[in-house]
Amino acid sequence: MKLTEEYEDLRKTVEAFARDVVAPVIGELYEREEFPYDIVRQMGQMGLFGLPIPEEYGGMGGDYFALCLALEELARVDSSVSITVEAAVSLGAMPIYRFGTAEQRAEWLPKLTTGEMLGAFGLTEPGGGSDVPGGMRTTAVLDGNEWVINGSKAFITNSGTDITGVVGVAAITGRRADGRPEISTILVPAGTPGFTVAKKYSKVGWNCSDTRELSFTDCRVPAENLLGERGRGYAQFLQTLDEGRVAIAALSVGLAQGCVDECLRYVRDRQAFGHPIGHYQAIQFKIADMEVRTHTARLAYYHAAEKMLAGEPFKKEAAIAKLVSSNAAMDNARDATQIFGGYGFMNEYPVGRFYRDAKILEIGEGTSEVQRMLIARQLGLGDL
Ligand SMILES: Cc1cc2nc3c(=O)[nH]c(=O)nc-3n(C[C@H](O)[C@H](O)[C@H](O)COP(=O)(O)OP(=O)(O)OC[C@H]3O[C@@H](n4cnc5c(N)ncnc54)[C@H](O)[C@@H]3O)c2cc1C
Repeated sequence: MKLTEEYEDLRKTVEAFARDVVAPVIGELYEREEFPYDIVRQMGQMGLFGLPIPEEYGGMGGDYFALCLALEELARVDSSVSITVEAAVSLGAMPIYRFGTAEQRAEWLPKLTTGEMLGAFGLTEPGGGSDVPGGMRTTAVLDGNEWVINGSKAFITNSGTDITGVVGVAAITGRRADGRPEISTILVPAGTPGFTVAKKYSKVGWNCSDTRELSFTDCRVPAENLLGERGRGYAQFLQTLDEGRVAIAALSVGLAQGCVDECLRYVRDRQAFGHPIGHYQAIQFKIADMEVRTHTARLAYYHAAEKMLAGEPFKKEAAIAKLVSSNAAMDNARDATQIFGGYGFMNEYPVGRFYRDAKILEIGEGTSEVQRMLIARQLGLGDL
């Protein structure tokens, strides 16, 4: 993937925004575990929530790689802000754009693309996120002209903010002839009676991102809230997650790069044994390794994005990109914290936040084990 002038302009704009607007305030918001409404409002004005969506729906008419570039630059400074955009676009708006009817697109996209409203995607349940069909208990039954939804969802990003507008809920809507569950996605507007949003989780990281458990008790929505075709929910989320993995890979690369950025500054200033610590080869090698991981992970996600945009199969490349970049983020966060010594453990410096934020990258939108399963399947090992 080449960084054309247009992509580079976008990258620089988001880089400047992250540096000038996000960096000065995010540490305190993170400490207070506050959702960054003002930052979200400004990102909405910049068009970040509509990057890959056509202008007729209020989007920027760009592509998914543009979204990835923005996510990377945001995560160089803060991952909560980046995941808020990632989940809103990739999990909230894109399924409506890809699979929605003309009416659903017209109703939701203009508000989602401007960031006036956030969308969410409820797939994971308390009983399991890796084996989605096996762990799913949420049901939706058609009663006349309405779906009646019962069940619960776990760990849903952007689902309980003041500006959350709609959640795509994956639910069992019947049984197939072979006995497997028929899964469909149903759009549930925030505030629908019977749809309850629990208080936000207390998390290890991503403290400014909104993550909630959702429950549905005889929650009724119109039949036309079905997203796309009945029974296509599983296929929809497989496609959504393939794309989402490239986005999470970009976010991970941003975090890995942020660790390099912070260390390059710190090792010039911090003195030990008569020299800046960057004088010592042990520190130089650590930073060289961090740079190698970041660079190779970036190439992996650029490659996956290139195949995606060319309309070629990219499942394996997306899984590889997600696996290597989340590893890179985790390893870089650990090394950066070590290089910062005691200050690495203090919230005053961003590397401590990077350390706390890195772990989830090996879990969300498919764990590292799931990525390996996908890669092995693509190598033909799935049916052995
Ligand atoms: C902060 C946060 C935000 C999230 N946001 C969303 C969201 O917006 N929407 C949404 O739907 N979900 C969301 N999730 C859920 C996330 O995608 C799941 O947590 C993830 O997919 C893992 O599922 P699980 O937690 O149920 O783990 P499990 O599936 O229970 O897995 C537990 C462990 O077993 C391993 N494992 C499972 N099966 C196998 C196997 N066959 N072979 C080897 N190892 C295996 C897993 O890799 C993992 O290590 C979020 C999670 C978090 C923590």
